Order: sequence, then C-alpha cells, then structure tokens
Amino acid sequence: MSTVYDRLRENWIYLLIAGGTALTFAISVRFELFEEFHAYSRAHEDWELDELAVLILNLTFGLLVAFIVRSRQLSKVAAERDKAERHAQEVACNDVLTGLPNRRAFMEHLLDLDRAGAANGEIVIMLDLDRFKAVNDVHGHAYGDLVLVRTAQRLQAELENEDLVARLGGDEFAIALKPGSDAARAEGIARRILKSVSQPIVEDGLRLSVGTSIGLARLTADQDASNALQFADQALYSAKKSGRGQYAWFDAELEKVARERRALELDLKQAVSNDQIAPFFQPVFDIASDRLRGFEVLARWTHETRGVVPPDVFIEIAEDVGLISSLGWSILRQALLAAKDWNPELALAVNISPTQFRDGHLVERIKENLSETGFDPTRLVIELTETAIMSDFNLAQTALLELRDLGVRVALDDFGAGFSAFSNLRQLPFDSIKIDGSFISHIQGSPENQRIVTGILALAHGLDLSVIAEGVETAEDLDFLQSIKCQMGQGYLFARPMSGRDVEWMLETKWSSLTRGEDEPSTPNTRFPKAG
Ligand code: C2E
Ligand code: CA
Ligand code: CA
Repeated sequence: MSTVYDRLRENWIYLLIAGGTALTFAISVRFELFEEFHAYSRAHEDWELDELAVLILNLTFGLLVAFIVRSRQLSKVAAERDKAERHAQEVACNDVLTGLPNRRAFMEHLLDLDRAGAANGEIVIMLDLDRFKAVNDVHGHAYGDLVLVRTAQRLQAELENEDLVARLGGDEFAIALKPGSDAARAEGIARRILKSVSQPIVEDGLRLSVGTSIGLARLTADQDASNALQFADQALYSAKKSGRGQYAWFDAELEKVARERRALELDLKQAVSNDQIAPFFQPVFDIASDRLRGFEVLARWTHETRGVVPPDVFIEIAEDVGLISSLGWSILRQALLAAKDWNPELALAVNISPTQFRDGHLVERIKENLSETGFDPTRLVIELTETAIMSDFNLAQTALLELRDLGVRVALDDFGAGFSAFSNLRQLPFDSIKIDGSFISHIQGSPENQRIVTGILALAHGLDLSVIAEGVETAEDLDFLQSIKCQMGQGYLFARPMSGRDVEWMLETKWSSLTRGEDEPSTPNTRFPKAG
C-alpha cells in the first residue's frame, strides 16, 4: 500500500515549485516588489525586463500544468500497484479452487487470537471427507474438484459471516467459530454439516456421494490457539474411530493422550541420542533338529520410570518424528557389538524399517557397521517388510543384490500379513521368508491358517527359500509345523526376547550344545521382560 508519505516523496519537485511560488508571492506583496520592479524596468527600458518577466510567468504556468498531469499519472500507477498487491495477498491466503481462505490464512487467524490474548473459549472445527478418494479414482479429478467446491459452498451456507471457514488442503476443511459461540451452537453446526455434506451431488447425470466426520475443540485460557487445529484433528481422528459420519469433541481424555504422546516423543528423542534403546534377542530354532540357528534382534527401551517400553509403542512414534533411521542404526551397531563373539554359527537377524531402507546409503552403512564392529557379514540377516520394497522396486533390487555380494542374507518379514505379492518373491533375491505370527499362534484351531501356511511353505520350497514360522506359542503349534516340515521357528514356546547378557548366560548353560534342551519352561522367563 502506498502511503501519503510515499506520494509526497514522489512529487517533491512539484511541491518545491508550488512552495517557491507561494513564498515569492508573499515576499512580493510584503515588500511591494512589483511596484519596485515596474519603476526599475521603466528606468532601464532597453534591458527588456518586462518581456523577461512575461517569459518567466509563462514558464511557471507551463510547469504547473505539467505538475498536474504528472501527478494524475502517478496516482493512477499507485492505484494499480495497490490493486496488484491486494490481489497477491489474496492469492497467498486463498485456496484457488474453492476461493476459501487457505491453511496459512487460518493459522494467521489463530495466531492473531493468541496475540490479542483472545483465545479463550474459541471453538475450532475440523472435518475431512469420507469416500472422497473413491470419487477421484472412479470419476476423475474434475469431479473431485467439483465435490470440493460444493462442499465449500455447503459449509459456508451453515455459517455466519463472522465465522471463518478455510480449506486446509486435500479434502480437509477447518472452521473457527465467531467469538462467543458456545458448545450448543457448535454441535448444531456440526449436525447440519454432517447432513448437508452427505447429500449426493448430482451433476452430468452422476450422483457423487461423500460423507464427513467432524472433530471439535474448545480452547481453554491456558492453551495456545495455534494448537487448536491439532486438538480438533485428534477429535476428528476419534470421531472416525467410533464410526464415520459423526462428530466428537477433543476432551480431557484425548488431551491426556496427546500430552502423554508429546512427552513420549521428547523422551524418545533423548533415549535415541543416548543409545538407551537396546537390542534384545529372540532365538530361532531349527524345528527338525531342535538346533539353535540364531537370533532376531528386537528393540527394547528401558525407561527410568516407564519401565520396558515395547516397540509397537515407540517404533511408530520414531517413524512419525523422523527418528527411525538413527534408532535403527543405533540398534544394528549395538547388536553387532554384543553378538560378535558369540558362537560363529549363530546368525543375527536385524529389522530394517522402510524409511531406513529407502535412505539411499543402506548398503554403505551396513558395510561400515560390519567393518567397524568386525562382525562376520555372512552371519547377518536383514529383515525387510514388503512396504520397504514396494515404493521403489529397482532400488530394492539393486540393494538386495549388493547385500548378497557382501554375503549378507535377506529375509522377507511378516509374510502373509500384507500384500504378499508373489512377484516380489520371484524377482528379488531373498534367502528366506518369515510367516507372520498371526497365522501360526494356535494354528490347530484354524484349518484355514493351516491351509495358508502349508501353501506358503510349498511356494517357498519351489523358490528355494527357507521358511521361519513366527509366533510359535504352543506345543501343538510346533507339532503342526513339524508335520508340514517347516524348517525354522521362533516364539514364546522356545523363548521370549532377552538381553545380550541373558543370551550369553543361556549359551553357557542350557544352550551350550546349541540345542534347545528338553523340559519346559525352556527359559527363566521371570528374568526377561515380557514382549508386546
Ligand atoms: P516383528 O519383526 O514381526 O517381530 C516379531 C514380534 O513378535 C516381536 O514383537 C516379538 O517379541 C513378538 N513375538 C515373538 N514370539 C512371539 C509369540 O510367540 N507370540 C507373540 N504373540 N508374539 C511373539 P516386538 O518385539 O514387540 O516387536 C514388534 C515389532 O516392532 C517387530 O515385529 C518389528 O516390526 C518392530 N521392531 C522391533 N524391533 C525393531 C527394530 O530394531 N527396528 C525396526 N525397524 N523395527 C523393529
Ligand atoms: Ca522381524
Ligand atoms: Ca515378523
């Protein structure tokens, strides 16, 4: 925006002229300069002073006209510039498709509330569309866009001018209700939105039908408005969990969960950087011979006050906050150091997360760790899930071949639980597959699981892959695996995951001949924290 000051600065020369003229006039009047001049010029007729005066007068008039014209031009330019600036501002703060304010504008609004100290009792609503992806996939993006535009209109129709509705991106919308709105108004709006958004959109003979779920959050005085969206998002998540097409409030329980999660994130960051997350080891046995073949490395976090935290709690957080790679490398290194002097026959299988797998320097980093710890590469097995391979098949192929060149083996983990594309098995150089524990535990009671596991075994046999059954919990599970000639097993029946020191103790005692040993319980379970 150009200010008055800018305008004055641009036109200073004209101001100077105008000012000068006024000053000259005042002085002339005060000292009767014209009378003086008149007398003087009459006295010196041959100097043509009066003609000179006419010339100067003309010049001044000309400049005055030029000033007016120029100043009009300038104000036109300034107005155009203001318009362009306003437009740029609007584009930056508005979603082009729906014309609604965008995420940036919405966050600005919340920050303004914080700055004004007005964020008390504010209600923020968040929603996203159910089945929107299906509309996009089935009818194409043009119809997807249409759904978004209509939804924006429907939301606006339920609101007043002082409410702010924004499109956050994708199929996500947020609303900040006008100050002073109470829970009853918010719930009324939520109910009406649920109804109006789920009305089918009829266009070009098509009926496009989406639904929505809604999260509501009401801020208390001690909360920052800038967190409101996060709270509403959590409420939205819980609305979806309790069945779609509903609304849910962010409440004390959810807040507790959110606070707990943030605390856990902070603790986890510290724990990873201090190597407080340590490898545990779960034995893998050969089923026919009862021989100990090696261990799977499983991360365990022993927290001062929380006790042992299992990986299904922290691995997901580590993924979310970008810690998974440093955690993975720390575990690998600690595990190699711990196991390097164990019986050289014993293999060590380490889980590599999809993120870690894709980080681009996987093979180099494994090589580095092997040479720095002096661990024999032929004892190392890398466990990968299909998620890791799926995103970039070529990268996976190269990496797996390089690992094979190093002498490192690769196992496909959780087989059966995911996509289980047989093409992956055929085209990628795996050495073994691990059948997901959910098929194995209590397999006697499930003829269907028995058929699946028998099928997987036949398939693996045909592809020359060895098979490890996870989750062997009962003697009956083991009997079944024996009967179908599954090579290896791992599970609570044999032993729970245990610390490196406990492994050493077991290797000196019960497993000294590298066999499982007979009687139950096979391991002093009380010494080992329970997994999962
Ligand atoms: P996973 O790779 O499938 O690991 C096997 C899980 O089954 C382990 O859970 C193990 O303790 C558990 N388990 C072993 N025997 C039995 C049994 O008989 N019955 C049952 N019900 N469970 C059994 P855990 O240690 O809680 O690990 C869970 C998952 O966390 C692992 O699943 C793996 O995906 C991930 N994880 C663990 N450690 C790491 C790690 O260092 N890096 C990465 N990226 N992921 C890890
Ligand atoms: Ca595994
Ligand atoms: Ca597994």
